[in-house]
Amino acid sequence: MSGKRIIIIGGGISGLTAAWELTRRGREVVLLERRDVLGGLARSAPLNGKPLEVYYHFICGGDRHLVELVNELGLADRLHWRPGRTSYFVNGRLYPFTTPLDLLRFSPLSLTSRLRFGLHALRCRRMTDWHVGRQAYEVVWRPLLEIKFGRYCDKISAPWIWHRIHRYSQSRTSPLRPEQLGYIEGGSHTLLTALCESITARGAVVHTGVAALSLNCSGQEIQGVETSNGYYEADKVIAAVPLPELIELLPASSEYAKMLSQIQFSSVACVRLALRRSLTDSFWVNVNARNVAFNGFVEYSNLNPGCEYGGSDVLYVPFYFDSSDKRNRWPDSRFIKSAIQGLQLIHPGFGQDWVEEAVLNRDRYGQAICPPGFGERVPALRAPIQGLYVLDSTQLYPADRNLSGMIKLARLVGQMIAAGE
Ligand SMILES: Cc1cc2nc3c(=O)[nH]c(=O)nc-3n(C[C@H](O)[C@H](O)[C@H](O)COP(=O)(O)OP(=O)(O)OC[C@H]3O[C@@H](n4cnc5c(N)ncnc54)[C@H](O)[C@@H]3O)c2cc1C
Repeated sequence: MSGKRIIIIGGGISGLTAAWELTRRGREVVLLERRDVLGGLARSAPLNGKPLEVYYHFICGGDRHLVELVNELGLADRLHWRPGRTSYFVNGRLYPFTTPLDLLRFSPLSLTSRLRFGLHALRCRRMTDWHVGRQAYEVVWRPLLEIKFGRYCDKISAPWIWHRIHRYSQSRTSPLRPEQLGYIEGGSHTLLTALCESITARGAVVHTGVAALSLNCSGQEIQGVETSNGYYEADKVIAAVPLPELIELLPASSEYAKMLSQIQFSSVACVRLALRRSLTDSFWVNVNARNVAFNGFVEYSNLNPGCEYGGSDVLYVPFYFDSSDKRNRWPDSRFIKSAIQGLQLIHPGFGQDWVEEAVLNRDRYGQAICPPGFGERVPALRAPIQGLYVLDSTQLYPADRNLSGMIKLARLVGQMIAAGE
């Protein structure tokens, strides 16, 4: 391969959005995606013949950059907002946890803790106070953090926790109403397909099933990328891959690789169930029960009605764990069994006969672990190698990983390159 150009490594939302920003500014782009499908963590796999996300994705009221992109791609009429109901399974019972009245009736917390929790949620819409009280932390917050961080749950930085509450609180139009959450008809697949069509129509070359193997630098300047499909010369390279994947592309001895390797990630394994019947009326159910192997589940059809998926009810059960956890060696069937057993404990009527399809999806780098001081380790958009740019969810800190934030950063990188910065 010859000719100088911009190579984008990674065909998730970040890589595709960067390609979109660059091609609309007339730049020549080649995008390389290792998998056979685009989308990264937002990829889809079929259910009843239609693409369905392997992991649940919803949109919050403050996800401005995603909504803008949806509008610019002409997809505004496919974006819908609906109440996102939440429940808590605790002390062997399912409690609604959506409105202030639900909170007042939430007997697992003392009255004082309920009032304190409610006031805290209100204040989080505007302020940076995250102190919610010990009991509310143990009953409500701890299981939520355990979902994502497992044994690291007590080490997560306060700004990250506050930002998470704040993002949700921005989805409420009034403290008395449930949060309004968004979804795109056809899921993230609709957005990713529109992006791919738009960039290829403007001349971008998209290769799926092609992995970047190493970055070729002369001195501290990028020259090209060695791939499973040969060598590609490049002026600029955007690495829109999780940081541990970027480390693999750098010389092992590089100081930059050493710096990046300080950031730890949890793996994610997520059971996607297609059910014959609905389990709850909630979109999000937090679980605080010792005999259940997971800390929550997402009944996606309660946000995006199941008619799209041939009438099946779609439910996700996520598991997060670090690299030393024995679950890294579990076969898919073990996660599926744990999910089904847990759901049986939560809803005694639930049984195997409800299940039309059960599949497990995994990603080794599902979520960065953000202990105090994390902000100092986050890499800049511009790497210390000239011509190399980096896009990774850690750069959203203290915000949690999310599509909208990555769209913002990817557009920024596209604009920086187009402006010759
Ligand atoms: C369970 C789960 C639920 C989520 N829910 C939400 C939600 O509700 N709302 C929301 O906004 N966000 C959600 N997210 C977060 C969102 O999915 C991510 O923030 C976003 O998809 C990250 O996109 P990305 O392009 O930066 O990275 P990725 O999606 O990780 O894409 C990186 C791509 O690079 C490719 N790649 C890696 N190495 C190489 C290589 N050497 N050569 C070529 N290609 C390579 C990978 O295959 C992948 O396709 C969720 C994530 C998970 C895991």
